[in-house]
Amino acid sequence: MKKHNFYAGPSIMPEFTINKTAEAIKDFEGMGLSLMEISHRSKQFEAVMEDAQQAFKDLLNIPEGYKVLFLGGGASLQFAMIPFNLMQNKSAYLNTGSWATKAIKEAKLFGDVDVVASSEDKTFNYIPEFTIPKDADYFHITTNNTIYGTEIKEDLDSPVPLVADMSSDIFSRPVDVSKYGMIYGGAQKNLAPSGVTFVIVKEDLLGKVDRDIPTMLDYRTHIKKGSMFNTPPVVPVYSALQTLKWLQQNGGVEAMQKVNIEKANLLYDEIQRNKLFKPTVAKEEDRSLMNVCFIMNDEYAELEKEFFEFATNKGMVGIKGHRSVGGFRASLYNALPKESVEALIDTMKEFEAKH
Ligand SMILES: *Cc1c(COP(=O)(O)O)cnc(C)c1O
Repeated sequence: MKKHNFYAGPSIMPEFTINKTAEAIKDFEGMGLSLMEISHRSKQFEAVMEDAQQAFKDLLNIPEGYKVLFLGGGASLQFAMIPFNLMQNKSAYLNTGSWATKAIKEAKLFGDVDVVASSEDKTFNYIPEFTIPKDADYFHITTNNTIYGTEIKEDLDSPVPLVADMSSDIFSRPVDVSKYGMIYGGAQKNLAPSGVTFVIVKEDLLGKVDRDIPTMLDYRTHIKKGSMFNTPPVVPVYSALQTLKWLQQNGGVEAMQKVNIEKANLLYDEIQRNKLFKPTVAKEEDRSLMNVCFIMNDEYAELEKEFFEFATNKGMVGIKGHRSVGGFRASLYNALPKESVEALIDTMKEFEAKH
């Protein structure tokens, strides 16, 4: 049976990326060697690294003055590297979920953290109102809250450098990079297999803190060495390049945004129409296009397990909601075809008809 992959991360990849990576693992660029067994200093891999950085710049229209890095350690290591490199006295954070909470915890190790607003009072099911303090060294947001299904879909105007965790919505829409000081994320949601972390950083923000920074945790090290200070995650970087090529061949981020809006609207409309379900995020403008969270309507609460089994039997994979929210979560990343959304909707309709 055809599977429909709604996993939140690691998650569905374009078939193109999987096939190209599989080929390169057998024989990389006709070298007679596997991608896994060549030097990262070979000219063939150096070209991959350079092409991936260039494709990032082209796809997101990254202006002069910004560097693109491919690092290890996940988005979670960035939670510590950001304050280590950017925070002299005070930083500001918006708390919209578990990932933001984890980022705040790390920043507190380095000084005064102003949490400007939080939606924790309602299990993070909305984006709170906030004002950005003008005296902060930077302001940190999570644009897409993978677990709770909320998203900040506009590029904010910030009086201080804006730092954004875009782990789960990078390349889902056009972004005005000039409005950000830094954009980062783990690749395993919308770009590549796990193991590589992307960082887009405005170079002139660096070198302004007094503290000593360990070599590996200093962005300047990786800028100077073109993400090759130590051995980079070779295979995930190669896969990322394939996804970037796939994006370029499929109309780039504008085309992705158009389809992502269509897919999300189809599913949210069905959740609202279907008597069995309701969305967890009430306000339309706060709803994520990437992670659609929904639960059973109160009077049908006891059907949750049954729907999960029903949907699993129809080939739906990865739709269980995060344990902190319950219910269901369908992740609609770029690589997820519209047919999978339609298949999920048909499943919801069939289940409704049964009850
Ligand atoms: C998955 C995720 C993370 C964690 O990424 P790791 O690469 O596992 O450290 C951080 N932020 C957001 C928004 C995520 O979705």
